Amino acid sequence: MQPLYVRVHPADSVAIVVNPEGLPAGATFPCGLALREAIPQAHKVALTRHEPRQPVLRYGQTIGFANREIHPGDWVREEWIDLPPAPPLDQLPLATAIPAPLPPLEGLTFDGYRNPDGAVGTKNLLGITTSVQCVAPVVEYAVRRIREELLPRFPHVDGVTAITHTYGCGVAIDAPDAAIPIRTLGHLSLHPNFGGAPLVVSLGCEKLQPGRLLPERSLTRVGAGPLPIAGGSPYVVRLQDADFRGFGEMVAAILRAAERRLEELNRRRRTPCPVSELAVGLQCGGSDAFSGVTCNPAVGHAADLLVRAGATVLFSEVTEVRDAAHLLTPRAVNEQVARDLIREMRWYDAYLARGGADRSANPTPGNKRGGLANVVEKALGSVAKAGSSALMAVATHGERVRTKGLVFAATPASDFICGTQQLASMNLHVFTTGEGTPYGLAMVPVIKVSSRTALAERWPDLIDLDAGRIATGEASLPQVGEELFRFILDVASGRKRTWADHWGLHNNLAPFNPGPVT
Ligand code: CA
Repeated sequence: MQPLYVRVHPADSVAIVVNPEGLPAGATFPCGLALREAIPQAHKVALTRHEPRQPVLRYGQTIGFANREIHPGDWVREEWIDLPPAPPLDQLPLATAIPAPLPPLEGLTFDGYRNPDGAVGTKNLLGITTSVQCVAPVVEYAVRRIREELLPRFPHVDGVTAITHTYGCGVAIDAPDAAIPIRTLGHLSLHPNFGGAPLVVSLGCEKLQPGRLLPERSLTRVGAGPLPIAGGSPYVVRLQDADFRGFGEMVAAILRAAERRLEELNRRRRTPCPVSELAVGLQCGGSDAFSGVTCNPAVGHAADLLVRAGATVLFSEVTEVRDAAHLLTPRAVNEQVARDLIREMRWYDAYLARGGADRSANPTPGNKRGGLANVVEKALGSVAKAGSSALMAVATHGERVRTKGLVFAATPASDFICGTQQLASMNLHVFTTGEGTPYGLAMVPVIKVSSRTALAERWPDLIDLDAGRIATGEASLPQVGEELFRFILDVASGRKRTWADHWGLHNNLAPFNPGPVT
């Protein structure tokens, strides 16, 4: 393979090396540029001469300032670039470059599970939610019994999953920030993939009482006696209920309620539903310098196709958007949406400051090994997932999104916390990775897209789609984007299965609790 680099924007002063083994000193690109030293794959080569304090440009944007003289052909290492200040939030352009609506894609459907309340699921799961961590081991025991003893009788149900978490007690439940984990868990419990009516297991003395978790639902208590008629309302098993004599009776009550829910779920069938019923959450994890030129823009292309078909597309991860905020506020559909985005950035700046950190805490050692110099470079690559459509709405942490089109749903960038919060709204997840992670979620399918072909070849049974072909010229960005779009519809319809679901790789849920623990 001849020496190859990717330059994203004509103004860029650096490019990244494509060759899988990196390149030795003296290697010469077709343009005549020769390397002054060896450069690993995905790391940056200087295309032009930089004086100290001169901007280093990638994506046509300043990713930092040179802190020494840099010659063409040099390996531009992370420590050669000083982090620029974040875009000031009080000077951002508001809705000044609203993209024109993209031509609609009409008549596209997928086979989903339509619920009585109109919401559409992509899986058919029995969900057992918990109001507090204290009950988690009991629920996990019951789940094992349900899998072994009950599920085989209900072939139309895909599985049983417990919503367990570390929240629910030992927290300042009336603190303002407590609203975040509480609403997240409430929306998760009513997820469309559970048919909208969960089974709740509570301890009894916890702060997060079931009525507070699901304030708009009437709850049906399950005791030691015969199962009451619930009429579509959630069942609640309260372990401290005076009815129960010992562990055996508690578990028997959970199994009785589970059996009734399984009978209902087993009647669900997939039917053609418009693609507008999809809410696809986008996330990246273990990113590298290729992410911003291969998998993320390919996902962005698929995001545009989803938006054109009327779907909801969520992008998130505040710390990975913060340094690209100046590129997003002009795209807001109106000034209010731009201000909502700034509100979320400002809230997170204050949250980080409270913890004695700032946005520079974001890149991981793996990100840096993968060629990402700092959070600015990471953010510019990350927002490529958002495609090119107008930003229609901004949701705060754990809020359920009901707007169609492209929506920013505020979350931390932490993979499991972001995924957990996106579950408040999404029925399918697309996850891009450069370094590789076996990440998955039980509640919705997770499609993993790799930034580099080398990763897809090393992990052929974990990566669902290889976007690395874009860097080597084997496939075009729109081709991979369209492939992903079709794959999304197949997975949402149950026609194809993700590797994470094939192996049952499902990460723990991790609700974001920025509030005090007592
Ligand atoms: Ca992430």
